[in-house]
Amino acid sequence: MYNTWKDLEEACNNCTKCKLCEGRNNVVIGKGNKNADIMFIGEGPGADEDKEGIPFVGKAGKLMDKAFEGVGIKKEEVYIANIVKCRPPNNRNPEDEEANHCREYLESQMNLVKPKIIVLLGSVALKNVLGKEYGITASRGKWFEKDGIRILPTFHPAALLRDESKKIDFWKDLKEIQK
Ligand code: URA
Repeated sequence: MYNTWKDLEEACNNCTKCKLCEGRNNVVIGKGNKNADIMFIGEGPGADEDKEGIPFVGKAGKLMDKAFEGVGIKKEEVYIANIVKCRPPNNRNPEDEEANHCREYLESQMNLVKPKIIVLLGSVALKNVLGKEYGITASRGKWFEKDGIRILPTFHPAALLRDESKKIDFWKDLKEIQK
């Protein structure tokens, strides 16, 4: 576990624990308020994020920004990270081994931020944080608790780009968080 941001960032930036390091341009650690009450967890960087070294700057991120604006969540009030810090080739899902190697980084982020609420964006985040037995369709919009932190799974914003009908539930979940 890393107890300072400096140690964590140094470890992530030099990480070669899995093969994702071979294809990366940048390690994508997180963005936002490091003392936020709300932390969002996505899946892993895409091409835009890999290029910039910042999570959720591509299409899915822009959609999320719009939704935040719509429900009155300020970007400066939240912290956003991913299950894996390096881009999986062709945006495939991270493999268990990759996610497991990255777990220590994510857990360190959670410990450092100390959020009151964690929002899990999509199935990969859900399964890696709460467990393999959970499915996103049945779990979204329901509150869970782990280590004293309230956890709300919702759809990944990229899923909304593929299926517009999911937008209503996503907005509902964001409103619930904003409350
Ligand atoms: N999708 C994710 O899960 N994370 C990002 O940072 C970008 C897209």
